[in-house]
Amino acid sequence: MTKPKTDIRSQNIEELKSRFNQWREPAYRVEQLLHWLYARRVTGWDAMTNLPKPLRSRLAEEFSFHSIALAQKQGSRDTTQKFLWRLPDGALVESVLIPANPALFGDPSDRHTLCVSTQVGCAYGCKFCASGLDGWKRNLEVEEIIDQVLAVERLAAGERARPAKTSPETPSAGKSLENSERTVNNLVIMGMGEPLANYDHLVKALGILNAPWGAGIGARKITISTSGLVPEIRKLADEPLQFRLAISLHGATDEVRNKIMPVNRKYPIAALSDACVYYLRTKGRMITIEYILIKGVNDGLDQTKPLAELARRLHAKVNLIPYNSVEGLPWERPDEACQTAFANALTALNVTATLRREKGHDIDAACGQLRLRTQLEEQEIATQKT
Ligand code: SAH
Ligand code: SF4
Repeated sequence: MTKPKTDIRSQNIEELKSRFNQWREPAYRVEQLLHWLYARRVTGWDAMTNLPKPLRSRLAEEFSFHSIALAQKQGSRDTTQKFLWRLPDGALVESVLIPANPALFGDPSDRHTLCVSTQVGCAYGCKFCASGLDGWKRNLEVEEIIDQVLAVERLAAGERARPAKTSPETPSAGKSLENSERTVNNLVIMGMGEPLANYDHLVKALGILNAPWGAGIGARKITISTSGLVPEIRKLADEPLQFRLAISLHGATDEVRNKIMPVNRKYPIAALSDACVYYLRTKGRMITIEYILIKGVNDGLDQTKPLAELARRLHAKVNLIPYNSVEGLPWERPDEACQTAFANALTALNVTATLRREKGHDIDAACGQLRLRTQLEEQEIATQKT
């Protein structure tokens, strides 16, 4: 069997330089290639018109150049949009694009946060989460993480080029984009999967997305969310890049957290909190604590005191997120009065807490939900056929 090719977008500048050097190609050819990949975001070798044809053929022989395919899109240009991607092996993952400010007077917002996935499924099995329901399938490749950003930018540019309200499609391989047409300014690694369980691919992909020769997204504009993998949090602290860290806490005592997040049995709150302090000291970056409010599970005011103590130890702000219900799971969000009482109790304990006004509740925006629904529908169609 022939060895599968490495994708061109999994290569950093050093790897490309060394390869081009072996081929006796001048160094400026690497710059030209990178410009096509990350500034113009083309999807085929033929578009790279200033690279000599023999070089393009050699690249095509040595590297693959796959783009993820749009399987479904929900939402519109001015609101939260959700993209379901089909990967080359048929697996589905999703990304969510959130405008920074609600668009005023119908003008499209030009600053956006993109939430990207890092795995197909998730092995961590948090009881409330749609991503883990079906278990873990595989890690995303470096280029599959990167292409979520590039593909969204290609689609957004395609929409800008067309009058509003027409259906979007990917610009063809030959068509390219300009740098000024950037759509994604912030990245949150909060889609499907546990990013720190796909550590090497994640860090390499983020290095390329961050690099000035790559997608140029500032490390301080990239937030990695984790359910609390202690050794990897420490490892991340020792990386040169200054990523932001968000901890999915969802329970302020081991008793509550054990019930909903199996990872807490391996890395209980004390170990997690020590690793966060290490991150904070090494990086000097503020940490965010994510806390979903689930009715009758973790929304009791008794959780606010230990939560505030932890937040103060980590100099962290707390993001409170009312639970987004998931098909097939019994959990619900508490009512608004209860949510506000929880937030106010934290504020009274001198902690910065925000109750996140949700975006995209109506379009299955919570982690893993669009994929879950699409997979269920596809299974249903398959069963009807047999
Ligand atoms: N595995 C990582 C990142 C992906 S999950 C992590 O757990 O942090 C991203 C965030 O979505 C996490 O904070 C997760 O707890 C939250 N989440 C999962 N299901 C949710 C739901 N149904 N409603 C609201 N938030 C949810
Ligand atoms: Fe995995 Fe995060 Fe969902 Fe937990 S919350 S199952 S770690 S994706």
